[in-house]
Amino acid sequence: MIKVPIEVSARHCHLSQNDLAKLFGKGYKLKVLKIISQPGQFAAKEEIKVIGPKGELKVRIVGPVRQDTQIELAATDCYKLGLKPVLRVSGNIKGTSGAISIGPKGKIKIKQGVIVAQRHLHLSPAEAKSLKLKSGKLVSVKIKGSRALVFNNVAVRSGEGHKKSFQIDTDEGNACGWLPGMFGVLIK
Ligand SMILES: [Zn+2]
Repeated sequence: MIKVPIEVSARHCHLSQNDLAKLFGKGYKLKVLKIISQPGQFAAKEEIKVIGPKGELKVRIVGPVRQDTQIELAATDCYKLGLKPVLRVSGNIKGTSGAISIGPKGKIKIKQGVIVAQRHLHLSPAEAKSLKLKSGKLVSVKIKGSRALVFNNVAVRSGEGHKKSFQIDTDEGNACGWLPGMFGVLIK
């Protein structure tokens, strides 16, 4: 039995250097609130306000800055904002919804990049090799407990800067009765 730690990602965003400058001022550096499981990444102290046709939400920034701005929401968050939930693997943002974003120093219209992240399994290259799994492969993760279920269509994502972690959003976490420290069972 191969156990995988489960982590729930609350809504968050990754900002490009350019968008960070527009929202927080030129040369602004994000402050670390908490180191997160994936090596090199951190939850920043800073949040932005994201506005859609029906509402607004505060969204925490995950640093460091990236090539493209991406806002990752649960489907519930999308409905609150009045945006269509579009399921995507992180980084694949072409043709997704946009939103207005507001920071302390500015307001921008993000043309695309609002996604509901496809559930995924992060693996380091060594972990992927020992499990004989490659990036892009779909696996399943079985959850036990009072809200037991099986998550199918879990995309494997392996590479430097990855570490074994099954990542789901808050809707999925609630659906399976997630509690901190919970593990799932990998089904290849
Ligand atoms: Zn993310």
